[in-house]
Amino acid sequence: MRYEDSYLYRLRHSAAHLLAQAVTELHPGAKLAIGPPVENGFYYDIEFPTQLREEDLPKLEAKMKELAKLDQRIERLEVSREEARALIVDEAIPGMGAAVADYKLQLLEGIPEGETLSFYNQQRTDREGTLHRFLDLCRGPHVDSTKEIKAFKLMTLAGAYWRGDVKNKQLTRIYGTAFETKEELELHLHNLEEAKKRDHRILGKELGLFMFSARVGTGLPLWLPKGATLRQVMTDFLQREQVKRGYDPVVTPAIGSTQLFIKSGHMANYREKMYPIMESGDDEAYVLKPMNCPFHMEIYASQMRSYRDLPVRYAEFGNVHRYEQSGEVTGILRARGFTQDDAHLFVRPDQLLDEFIGVVDLMQCVLKKLGLTNFRARVGTKDPSSDKYVGHDDNWTAAQEAIEAACQKLGLPYEVSAGDAAFYGPKLDLIIKDALGRDWQMGTVQVDYNLPERFELEYIGEDSKPHRPVMIHRAPFGSLERMIGLLTEQYAGAFPTWLAPVQIAILPIADRHNEAAEGLARQLRDTVFDDRPLRVSVDDRRETLGKKIRENQLQKVPYMLILGDKDLEEGTVGVRSREDGDLGAMALATFLERLSV
Ligand SMILES: [Zn+2]
Ligand SMILES: [Zn+2]
Repeated sequence: MRYEDSYLYRLRHSAAHLLAQAVTELHPGAKLAIGPPVENGFYYDIEFPTQLREEDLPKLEAKMKELAKLDQRIERLEVSREEARALIVDEAIPGMGAAVADYKLQLLEGIPEGETLSFYNQQRTDREGTLHRFLDLCRGPHVDSTKEIKAFKLMTLAGAYWRGDVKNKQLTRIYGTAFETKEELELHLHNLEEAKKRDHRILGKELGLFMFSARVGTGLPLWLPKGATLRQVMTDFLQREQVKRGYDPVVTPAIGSTQLFIKSGHMANYREKMYPIMESGDDEAYVLKPMNCPFHMEIYASQMRSYRDLPVRYAEFGNVHRYEQSGEVTGILRARGFTQDDAHLFVRPDQLLDEFIGVVDLMQCVLKKLGLTNFRARVGTKDPSSDKYVGHDDNWTAAQEAIEAACQKLGLPYEVSAGDAAFYGPKLDLIIKDALGRDWQMGTVQVDYNLPERFELEYIGEDSKPHRPVMIHRAPFGSLERMIGLLTEQYAGAFPTWLAPVQIAILPIADRHNEAAEGLARQLRDTVFDDRPLRVSVDDRRETLGKKIRENQLQKVPYMLILGDKDLEEGTVGVRSREDGDLGAMALATFLERLSV
């Protein structure tokens, strides 16, 4: 069911009205503007006679609770335009009259003639028999009684211009959230706190993964040694998987002639996301690549291909740049410079199913390795009522069927989203649910009937005639940046041992243990773990052992090995695990055994 049709949506809308009612009682003279439900709650925009502060929210919330408990019936009233005006000016907020009605009157004027005008009224009779009511011009729908609004919280304040126009007056926006049960509300608030602690921008800095510099530019991350190590480990892992699966690596330049991007259609259709054109003296113009695909097209087109050569799979960890609006840049989740784990597969139509199975299998393998086990797929298909699509209907049907069949065969849960395809082909997006229950759209597989057409790609079929291959774009991570952002938040920086930038920190207790610590580090770096040499650091700073332990713990290093006199004598190491704490002294071989399980 769509959120807009759900009970929760109505509940949150009613909570917004309840907030407005509380405001009119506590802040006479406040002018109400609009108060809709939004993704995680609701808000109301209000002009206050004196500036509202965060400290005022608990009082408002208490008033809302009081009003909610009164079990006010929420009733819909349909009225004529004349009645509507009268209600707004005279009755909506008893005693205030026209003085607070500006925004509501403007809203009324904005409703086209002929449209039904409705108010929602929440009213009660008090012990003395006096009728109290609060009416708000609103399309609805709402819940039946304020009593149903029992799990809510006012969250924060923000400024918002009336009608979103900076030329208009700035109003105060009060954000709140509401749920059907107290338990759901508690969980939501808990998750918000957790999300703050896990914010990849904060952790990225604390853990020394990446940084930004105003002198370098907005959205252009600088990868620090630990972050660069993380990238290397991930790249290395995927590269090996790709070699096993018959991919061939290619490398292409950071810039390309505008001619290339005219041919690919990016100059016409993707211009606003591209950095400005660079003119060189010799009448040539270049652009920074926003995508790797056109280069891979050229490589494919450079040779005559036979049906026996297909599929061809070109993979590149391609660094691309896209000019995202500065307001949309978000840490490394949405950067202007990033690296796609890109590949383009050129296949015969009869190979589509097998190739899809291969791609989906690779994606599942990648996510499993990264410890992301809660995911589903969304298959984006044609909007049957539109004719904006390129490629024959038969091809589309075959590709959609192949995508779905691949998901079924591999047991990947999926939903079909009609109209979600690009104009050039159907696609599959992977949606990952993280530890806090948030959805992340990550890896993608995209069938493309457009680029092979534009670049006139061919292969010679068994019938000795030229045929057009189908092209598949795919990126299991989405991008390295986005995936590292997700993993940082998923693990709150405590990456699994195989992925951790530093896997083992050796902590000599005193200077006289430094030499042994260096020797141990060399020995461990010669040890292979998860197909790679162990990543080891030696913390030989002249600090107390307690301080070194604390700091390595904060750096979320999976294991610390502590070396003191007794260890040197007995040939042991003192082991501390990130998860299990002090494990005591043990022989190195015992530790390595433990590490490998
Ligand atoms: Zn409303
Ligand atoms: Zn591509």
